[in-house]
This record gives sequence, C-alpha cells and structure tokens, in this order.
Amino acid sequence: MKALSIPDVLAEVAVLVRPHFGKGRPADYIPELADVPGGKFGMAVRTVAGEEHVIGDADEPFSAQSITKVFSLGLALNRMGDEVWTRVGKEPSGTPFNHLALLEAERGVPRNPFINAGALAVTDMLLDWTADPAALVRDFAGFLSDQALVIDEAVAASELAHAHQNRAIANLMRGHGTITHDPLDVVAAYCRQCALSMSCRQMSRAFLPLAAGGFSPVAQETIFPDRLTRRLNALLMTCGIYDSVGSFAYRVGLPAKSGVGGGIVAVVPGKAVVTVWSPELDRFGTSVVGTAALEAFAQLTSCSVL
Ligand code: GLU
Repeated sequence: MKALSIPDVLAEVAVLVRPHFGKGRPADYIPELADVPGGKFGMAVRTVAGEEHVIGDADEPFSAQSITKVFSLGLALNRMGDEVWTRVGKEPSGTPFNHLALLEAERGVPRNPFINAGALAVTDMLLDWTADPAALVRDFAGFLSDQALVIDEAVAASELAHAHQNRAIANLMRGHGTITHDPLDVVAAYCRQCALSMSCRQMSRAFLPLAAGGFSPVAQETIFPDRLTRRLNALLMTCGIYDSVGSFAYRVGLPAKSGVGGGIVAVVPGKAVVTVWSPELDRFGTSVVGTAALEAFAQLTSCSVL
C-alpha cells in the first residue's frame, strides 16, 4: 500500500476530527481565553529534513500557556544543569496542574516542572538571571521559530487578575524555601510567560531541536546537548499532559506538551514536530480535538515512540 503524503494525512485528520467538536469547552478560568471561538482548528507539521505542511488555522496565534514551560525549563537546564532538580522533581503528579495539597504534603517541592508549582519554581530560577523571564522565554521561542513573537498583555492581565490559586502555590513554596523571590513577582512573570502568542507553524519550528537531537535546523544552531534533548522528551512523555498523561500516551504514543489555550505540541524523535490547536478542552485541560487529531496522525503515519 502506498504511504500517504503529509498533506494527504492532514486532510484526512481534518475529516476524522469533525465529530469531536463541541465535546469540550475553552478555558474559562482565564476570562480572556473564554471568548476564543471553539471551532478553531489548525495543525502544522515541520520535519527535521525541512518540509513544512499546515492545515486550517495553523497561522493564527493562540495562547501558548503551559507549552511555554518547555522553553523556560530548557533555558534553566541549559544554564543551571542538574541544580534545577534540587528544587523540582521529575515524576508525574497524578493531580490537576494547579493542585495544592500534594505540594504541601511534599514540603513545597513540586512533582515536576510542568505542573504550575514546578513551572513557578523554574520561573523563580530564571529571575536570578533576568528581571523579565517572560521576555527571555519570548525571545528564545522567537529565536527558535525565526519570528518576532509577542506576549498578549490582555491575556496576561486577565490571568493575573484571577491567579489566586497560583499565588497560593507560590506563597507555599516561598514558605518552604523552594522559591526565593517575592511570590507576587514570580506569579506575575509566570502569567506573562504563559500569555505568549504563537501559531502552530511557529510552535512546530520552535520545538524542532527536540526532534533533531538538540539541533535547530531553523536557527542552524545546537540548542540542547543530545542527552538533555532525550531527557526533555522523557519529561514530556511522563509529565507533559497533566494528569491524563497515561491515556494520552496510550492514544498518541508521542512525547507532547499541552496548554490550556488549546495547543498541543508532539515530538516525533528523529523525524518531525506536529502542533495542533483547537481551544475546546477536556476536564484535565487538554484540547479534545487536538488529542483526537494527534491520535489520528500517529495512526495514519505509524509515528510513535511506543
Ligand atoms: N497559565 C495557566 C495556569 O497557570 C497555565 C495552565 C496550563 O496551560 O496548563 O493556570
């Protein structure tokens, strides 16, 4: 049987996901995100070899949210190495991304860098280095995607105005000494970082080092050592999709990171990055249509690390 081309696969995926619209809801705890039309759908594939294929709303910027946690972690690990792991763990949390009780039970050390507590700890580390971690993350992602990126200040302000839970998390960690800066500064920097706007096309370009042994074919530069690249992919596989990471791995079989803006980035090691965006979320905070799209993509292309 002749293998389908990537454009054929994307066209097929767009048909297969149709029944999944209307099953989830855009994030509403950040009011600015509640108004994003639920029917949006975009997908972008960028291969290590340089092919790029998109479908739907792949060039429309969406709120990257938790996906930015991969950029901030990459920056922190590149700069601080294993010292990062003295303040944050590497285990799946099995609890919602903004959970508080587990953090208290574990004396202020977050389970992993992708739940909010862990990402706040990483932002705190970046504050040792720059007064504006969000700009650092924006410029890093911009460098990797070869595009000037912007932070959506309305989304940042909207999240900050409702960031009571994240402030509680940051205060708890300050009490335990996991973070060292003013918790309010950490939360403000974190909310701005999460409000980075990127399109599927830009996201697939920016994540390419994770598919290419740490080298960015876009920036023509080695971004991460090969070993760190494999470790980042391991963290995505085990902790990248909130507390539904197991069923996501079962369905899709690829390291991936989701965000409550409705984006999901999946890495096909050695081959490509696939980004999908569709704002309606399941109860865990992951795009319903996005997950279905990646599941169909992995099946149609037999791309899976499992
Ligand atoms: N800024 C969001 C929050 O802290 C990120 C959550 C996410 O995308 O998972 O709630």
